[in-house]
Amino acid sequence: ETVTVDLGDRTYPIHIGPGLLDRAGELILPVMSGNRVLIVTDDQVAPLYLERLERSLAAAGAMPMHTVMPAGEKTKDFPHLEALLDAMLSTRVERGTLIVALGGGVVGDLTGFAASILLRGVDFVQIPTTLLAQVDSSVGGKTGINTRHGKNLVGAFHQPRLVLADTALLDTLPRRQVLAGYAEVVKYGIIDDPDFFTWLEANGAALIAGDAEARRHAVATSCRAKARIVAADEREGGVRALLNLGHTFGHALEAETGFSDELLHGEGVAIGMVMALRLSAMLGLSPQADAERLVRHLDSVGLPSGLAGPRLWDVARLIGHMRGDKKVKDGAMTFVLARSIGGGFLSRDVPEDTLATLLAEMAAGR
Ligand code: NAD
Ligand code: ZN
Repeated sequence: ETVTVDLGDRTYPIHIGPGLLDRAGELILPVMSGNRVLIVTDDQVAPLYLERLERSLAAAGAMPMHTVMPAGEKTKDFPHLEALLDAMLSTRVERGTLIVALGGGVVGDLTGFAASILLRGVDFVQIPTTLLAQVDSSVGGKTGINTRHGKNLVGAFHQPRLVLADTALLDTLPRRQVLAGYAEVVKYGIIDDPDFFTWLEANGAALIAGDAEARRHAVATSCRAKARIVAADEREGGVRALLNLGHTFGHALEAETGFSDELLHGEGVAIGMVMALRLSAMLGLSPQADAERLVRHLDSVGLPSGLAGPRLWDVARLIGHMRGDKKVKDGAMTFVLARSIGGGFLSRDVPEDTLATLLAEMAAGR
């Protein structure tokens, strides 16, 4: 199945399905201008999939090279960006060399950013290997790195020439990473697709357990949603901000945990979506039952839905992190709220005392 991201002369396809990795050569060939390919991956993905990708590319007549980065969020920083650019220049990357990002969101964001600034921009292809990357980060052209001031604060819009989402690669992904990516899948249902949310209630558990058809359907539906939103608003002047549902809250939680393994991005997003729905209900904008329905679903699949646990969360500090988020404009925080499941909208007038009350309730484990 192929989903198209419609962006005029930068339009590109997302190929989705099991087994596509072995067809990478034939699928990528049409976007190559030379025969040199540089694959960037990480040290956990490389032993699993690098050789198969190189074999497929070579069989199609390309000349694959590779560079392997350390796995993990810490790789999305200035020192690793410099090391990657250096590796690219040492292998004599030229304008006609195609860069291929093989990995999760970390490899995709770092490689895409490097491709955007190398020689003022070279072509790149995304081969996402995590659920999160297949449904979210590989599509839409946001690339970048973290700095000590926060996540994703340095980056560029640089669209890939093609995305190849082989859903069978998810078979080796640890369950906790599958769940984290699943939070972003749920996000599309809440933003504007109530039927998809209902489908997830029925099929989410099977998807997480490894059901191939459920995975294919969820990745395709998510990519269609993201492609539609990105085509309507590539640079996030409007509707694209809906994709930040749960993220202002989630980033604040991630910041408090130091972006460590204590809380994965998707886990923060899961809790953040609950916060968004509960805040909407507190403001009288949505039924309380919808927040409860989301909590029930997250609980049933094993994602966190609240702040229960050993950590003591400091409400003032959480609000401080939200203020530091790059979505703040003219001092006002923009929130993604929801009128219902499937009814996301942007709001710039959330009273701070309501926000503080909600966070205090949740920090108390309620
Ligand atoms: P990740 O890239 O760190 O991958 C998670 C772990 O899984 C890593 O250890 C990786 O080596 C391993 N792994 C990857 N594929 C595997 C496979 N098939 N089998 C076994 N192990 C595998 O994390 P992620 O969740 O994919 O991405 C998170 C990043 O994505 C964050 O930095 C976030 O900011 C970014 N992001 C970007 C966008 C965007 O629009 N650009 C959107 C959402 C998230
Ligand atoms: Zn996210």
